[in-house]
Amino acid sequence: MATKEAMFYNIIKNTPINNLLRCRLCSHYCVIAPGKEGLCLVRKNIDGKLYSLNWAKAVSLNIDPIEKKPFFHFKPGTRVLSFGTPGCNFRCLNCQNWDLSQGVREHGKTALDIIEDIEPKEIVKIAIEYKADGFAYTYSEPTIFFEYAYDTIVQARKNKLSAAKFHTFVSNGYFSKELLDFIIEQKLLEAIRIDLKFIEDEKYYRVCGGRLKPVLENIKKVYKSGIHLELINLVIPKENDQEFEIEKLAKTVYEISPEIPLHFSRFFPYYKLADREPTPLKTLEKAKKIALEIGLKYVYIGNTSLEGAEDTYCPECNLLLIKRNRFFIEKNVFEKTKEPICPNCSYKINIVL
Ligand code: SF4
Repeated sequence: MATKEAMFYNIIKNTPINNLLRCRLCSHYCVIAPGKEGLCLVRKNIDGKLYSLNWAKAVSLNIDPIEKKPFFHFKPGTRVLSFGTPGCNFRCLNCQNWDLSQGVREHGKTALDIIEDIEPKEIVKIAIEYKADGFAYTYSEPTIFFEYAYDTIVQARKNKLSAAKFHTFVSNGYFSKELLDFIIEQKLLEAIRIDLKFIEDEKYYRVCGGRLKPVLENIKKVYKSGIHLELINLVIPKENDQEFEIEKLAKTVYEISPEIPLHFSRFFPYYKLADREPTPLKTLEKAKKIALEIGLKYVYIGNTSLEGAEDTYCPECNLLLIKRNRFFIEKNVFEKTKEPICPNCSYKINIVL
């Protein structure tokens, strides 16, 4: 199995156990004894050194429209080479990609052993060959395959055929402070889409095994950094579909910035919440209405075929700017104007073209 020494960890000194490590990659900050793994099960303490076990273990390599991530305000109409690896630092009961994210938990280490290695330079070659505009580290949680993503970014930027391609994370936002500072300082990413899963800490913990506070702090920091940011909230019946929760979530986002695009996404029964009904469309429409009334400028409903729910309008004059049909663009006024300004009223639109 390919392993790579991990970034972001330290030896814990002055303890009765030798070679005790603290992983500093995500906000769990796991303490890992020799021979053991962290919560994500893909970082292991081998004789006092931490190793990433999922380095080069790319699966589900696809060229996707960027709208599928979803990014609606970043390079609309572009195509991204997308991949993930087994493992996750969350254990969401509703995970749609649980076979991948929870593969090691559910199937043991064979989930890693059966995957052929694809080294970063190979990934870059594929992106060049298929003329991808950029990369999306996605499907599972890119934080826990950070070394692999980092090496891919470095490789891509070294090669003149791929240096201009952009890099995006589709993430649960549970980065450690150290990791996010590094991403910002090194200018590694052009865009991040973060799942803001719940606005109640107890639910974050019960359903996903994470905490609200680090996610919110990271959302604020990403927004302030200037990295393009979009948020998604999966609306799960009987978990986070109450009006007061939607209101609280939308207000929280508004207080960070009304410019941040917010996607409400329809839940379908998966994994350990397979007994729930899909989110009623009315609930999603109500959520969008609440968020717009609070003052958010760009609110979408995803994972449905609701007419117009994924279109972008000018928040000032209501001109239709981008018409989408699922992941495809039917009309885009910026193709002609080439500037992020409403052609009708000159309002500045938060969009990276
Ligand atoms: S990445 Fe997070 S979950 Fe995995 S070992 Fe490190 S701190 Fe623990």
